Amino acid sequence: FGGILASRPIRPTIPAVGDPSHLRLTGRIGTVDPDSLDDHLAHGGGMALARALKLGSTEVIAQLSASGLSGRGGAAFPTGVKWAAVAAEDGPRHLVANCDESEPGTFKDRQLMEGDPFAVIEAMTAAAVTVGAEHGWIYIRGEYPLATDRLASAIQQCRTAGLLGEDVAGSGRSFDIELRRGAGAYICGEETALFASIEGFRGEPRNKPPFPTTHGLFGEPTAINNPETLLNAAWIIQHGADAYRSVGTDVSPGTRLFCVSGDVAIPGLIEVPFGVSLGDLLDLAGGAVGEIRAVLLGGAAGTFVGPDQLDLPLTLEDTRSAGASLGSGAVMVFNETRDMGDLVTRVAEFFRSESCGQCVPCRVGTVRQHEVMVELGRGGSLPSERRALVDEMALAMADASICGLGHTASHAMRSALELGLIGGSS
Ligand code: SF4
Repeated sequence: FGGILASRPIRPTIPAVGDPSHLRLTGRIGTVDPDSLDDHLAHGGGMALARALKLGSTEVIAQLSASGLSGRGGAAFPTGVKWAAVAAEDGPRHLVANCDESEPGTFKDRQLMEGDPFAVIEAMTAAAVTVGAEHGWIYIRGEYPLATDRLASAIQQCRTAGLLGEDVAGSGRSFDIELRRGAGAYICGEETALFASIEGFRGEPRNKPPFPTTHGLFGEPTAINNPETLLNAAWIIQHGADAYRSVGTDVSPGTRLFCVSGDVAIPGLIEVPFGVSLGDLLDLAGGAVGEIRAVLLGGAAGTFVGPDQLDLPLTLEDTRSAGASLGSGAVMVFNETRDMGDLVTRVAEFFRSESCGQCVPCRVGTVRQHEVMVELGRGGSLPSERRALVDEMALAMADASICGLGHTASHAMRSALELGLIGGSS
């Protein structure tokens, strides 16, 4: 699928979708100067931090909890619960921005960081004063040089202006940010592997519990969120929970960023309220090119859905009921000309390469499922007893792996088998 992504440019601007007020996170991209703190402030920047300082930790967390904001990294953990847990701890605390956006087909955080880096720094600062963190960290993937440069410049300008440092915006609160670059390991996007990498160890996930809220970076309480989640939190701090819930559904309030790629007329980043149907989202991307064979929701760790699912509302609850997930917001469209066997083989190869090898079900399971795909590619078949073995292996990986990579590595392959996209018996 990398080839398909590379063959089409990522749209540099964000389309105005319906009511422009829906563009809560992306509305400033292309408008604000990403290299200028003054321009950030001239475009309404600074208000979320000012409000976080004015409201105080308890009220901010109450607003976040009432908003129903869930993390945008795939696990959809309630952000208010996470921040409350860290705020309740004593001693040194950390605030980490997980900018190691490595899920294939996902580029939303990159666009936020490149297009609106001061908003990311401000959202981190608002989060830090809320949870009581004095140490901030950005862990960004090494393949994002422009985003890295812009964030580094934004940090420096904020320090000079007194928005970071020992007296944040004259509040008497201390908070500063260190920027660390990843070295290309997909697994370092997993939060505990990311901590290990910052600490100077090999990027391997740790068993949970204990959770990062009590034992995170350097064994200390840590709130970790990605840029999309942080910007949503800043929006809620500024506008309140009721305003946030004015779009979306009860279970999935607010808006969501979708990275639409593959066989659509205009691939790119699209912000829409939760609940828009898959078909409507593809229409916003200019419609499918050719006849849709399948859509991969959630990236390599996600699941395929067929063209009969275009009415599927894009919410946490509806995708869950359909046996799919929104994951990181990747939506990859494949038309009838695509070799689905080759595609799924590359997904399997990806997980085989990216498994850290620490636990047996994932280390062995990812190799075995890749072998099955290679065998199918050579014209082999998947008799029912072999298919049962694939299912059993997937169950073991989902049940007994330490981290999300093992839990999800078989999703794409199994959904492709179930939809008959690849040559297995179902
Ligand atoms: Fe490593 Fe896979 Fe185990 Fe995660 S599930 S810790 S990637 S071996």
